[in-house]
Amino acid sequence: MKLILLGSPGVGKGTYTQELVKDLNIVQISTGDIFRENIKSKTVLGQKVENYLSTGKLVPDELVIEIVRERLKEKDCQKGFILDGFPRTLRQAEALDKITKIDLVLNFKADHQVIIDRLSGRRICRSCKWIYHLKNSPTKIDGQCDKCEGETFHRPDDFPEAIQKRLSVYETETAPLIDYYKKKGLLREVVVNEEFSKYREEIMNRIHLALGLKNHL
Ligand code: AMP
Repeated sequence: MKLILLGSPGVGKGTYTQELVKDLNIVQISTGDIFRENIKSKTVLGQKVENYLSTGKLVPDELVIEIVRERLKEKDCQKGFILDGFPRTLRQAEALDKITKIDLVLNFKADHQVIIDRLSGRRICRSCKWIYHLKNSPTKIDGQCDKCEGETFHRPDDFPEAIQKRLSVYETETAPLIDYYKKKGLLREVVVNEEFSKYREEIMNRIHLALGLKNHL
């Protein structure tokens, strides 16, 4: 199963992906996580992309495409994967078409205020990357990950100025992908104004339906 999760920053793609990979037993590929890991480890890639991330701008297409191309060659992707945060531009989507064949694109939608609340309250574990929320899914101990005891942090691009930039970049660069995948017949929409557990069944049904329909073609 090769799945893309589309949707504005803060809609919950990362949170849904961390649940879906368990249900589907496939890997998550988050380009944002790859960049953050490289920034943390101070690699050459990390230095190249740091400024884009902190200001909420998109990393240049060629760089992202190359990283995804290499990542998808790895063995753990053979069974399938969930792409979270890629593609984000039409150029990236066209490049991905040449790399592999996608089975399904889920487009997550939520109200503007829900998105702002999710972004500003989001906290992430520095070690295992598990996503928490100050109000909706807080850690048991303040600032400490329940799963691995790592430190949780507030992403620099989850502060108000960068949030605004990311939302406007989403509207101009990424929203056109909705039509792109609609025309290909791959897109399904899910409205996700509440927590994942409420939508798990609907999302899994949509995934199975899409696979089932494909099998009958
Ligand atoms: P995310 O964790 O998906 O919200 O991504 C965080 C940041 O990483 C984005 O605001 C961009 O600066 C960068 N980024 C992640 N994925 C991409 C992508 N596919 N294309 C360009 N920049 C990206």
